[in-house]
Amino acid sequence: MTTQQAVKTLKNFINGKWVDAKTDTFEDVYNPATGEVLARVPHSSSEDVADAVAAASAAFKTWQRVSVPKRAKILFKYQQLLVEHQEELGRIVTEENGKSLSEAVAEVGRGIENVEFAAGVPTLMMGDSLTTVATDVEATNYRYPVGVVGGITPFNFPMMVPCWMFPMAVATGNTFVLKPSEKTPLTSQRLVELFQEAGLPDGVLNIVNGSVDVVNGLLDHPDVKAISFVGSERVGEYVYKRGSEHLKRVQALTGAKNHTIVLEDADLDAAVKGIISSSFGSAGERCMATSVLVLQESIADKFMAKFTQAAKDIKIGNGLDKGVFLGPVIRKENQERTLNYIKTGVKEGAKLILDGSEEAKERDGYFVGPTIFEDVKTDMTIWHDEMFAPVLSVMRAKDLPEAVAIANSSELANGACLFTDSAASIRYFRENIDAGMLGINLGVPAPIAVFPFSGWKHSFFGTLHANGKDSVDFYTHKKVVTARYDQSRFK
Ligand code: NAD
Repeated sequence: MTTQQAVKTLKNFINGKWVDAKTDTFEDVYNPATGEVLARVPHSSSEDVADAVAAASAAFKTWQRVSVPKRAKILFKYQQLLVEHQEELGRIVTEENGKSLSEAVAEVGRGIENVEFAAGVPTLMMGDSLTTVATDVEATNYRYPVGVVGGITPFNFPMMVPCWMFPMAVATGNTFVLKPSEKTPLTSQRLVELFQEAGLPDGVLNIVNGSVDVVNGLLDHPDVKAISFVGSERVGEYVYKRGSEHLKRVQALTGAKNHTIVLEDADLDAAVKGIISSSFGSAGERCMATSVLVLQESIADKFMAKFTQAAKDIKIGNGLDKGVFLGPVIRKENQERTLNYIKTGVKEGAKLILDGSEEAKERDGYFVGPTIFEDVKTDMTIWHDEMFAPVLSVMRAKDLPEAVAIANSSELANGACLFTDSAASIRYFRENIDAGMLGINLGVPAPIAVFPFSGWKHSFFGTLHANGKDSVDFYTHKKVVTARYDQSRFK
């Protein structure tokens, strides 16, 4: 917490206006590449949550009745504005998150993809009907918005993850209260401004900044009908349970420990390139990052020689500087936590073949260099925990079934990748791996917006995932009308 007055204090966005939070607790928002304080974010109170939910509830009364094509037109306009502001939004993401500018601009592109998908709401929200379910009786399934939706987002994708939620939620006629990550709240401020500029009516999208109290406020509020959460496993499980206890529909997309397998028939150079990007891009702070690499024994030495050299060649620095690939982790405590994991890995017997700890000493900001452990075992902490850092655990397996068994022993099952040239191996992998998003000969298998973001096991709590048709189902109720139309008068 801080007492500084010089930096900008963020406001909440409620009913179309920027308003001060009703709190005296604030937290600094840092540029993790420099340690500079960018802003102060309020830890808003339950009173602020109540104000936002009241505004969203009032707006719901009219927004749900705005014609679906008109809602779609606002989304088309929003898409245009986001494209025009893509570079500006990317810079905000880099400044508050630390990832390289090219990754940040690409992230904004992925967020825009969600808006494009949501703009298809007139067809996506169509119901269906059957003309003859009994003599002269027909049935029709209609879709309706659920009401006020609460969204809780993590620090690692300040643009894309909120866009997994509010564009489709409002397109389908709901109103929304977003609680962005307190570590990266700045991008959301610009996102809501641009949506208002596109013609979104007051109260449809609101922002309440803060942390635990705001989350609990949304989970407990009787007028919030659904909760979309993305974040860590521990918090996601809590959100899912507490939201469900209050009889809300909840989707919680959570932590990850993604395994990538490289077989002897793979194109090793392409695999090195894809896995370097997957493991060390965004400083390993991606829910789709490769955090465990399982190599077929026969090519392991050859692969590691190329891979380690490529990791050593990575350019580290401020993501705004040209050519930088690896930026900082998000906070000093994340840096310290990562350095502790590196020590733990060594203590538990893994072989440290590239140590990123030195970078932490040499720079301002919260840097950790690319770090690689070999000889990792499934009883080690660095295999088990989601480190969420540029630290890769490497293991060896004699064949694909052994590699798949290693991956399947993790409770976290967001994604998994396979590098191979064999169709039979690809089929074996697809049929036997217990993970929800698979990559074949690529490093980051994050599906485009028209598909569900479909983590398994403890990487997801709920039934309907974010994105794709799941998101339309999640944000709508169904009403089925069975109607008799007596035709006897026409006989
Ligand atoms: P986090 O769980 O710490 O925070 C997520 C949100 O929950 C934030 O808005 C935060 O304010 C709130 N929160 C934190 N602690 C809370 C508590 N005790 N009670 C109530 N609310 C609380 O996650 P993070 O560090 O911001 O983000 C990284 C995590 O998100 C990683 O685990 C990553 O794998 C996960 N993630 C998952 C996906 C996915 O699709 N599965 C996507 C992106 C990120």
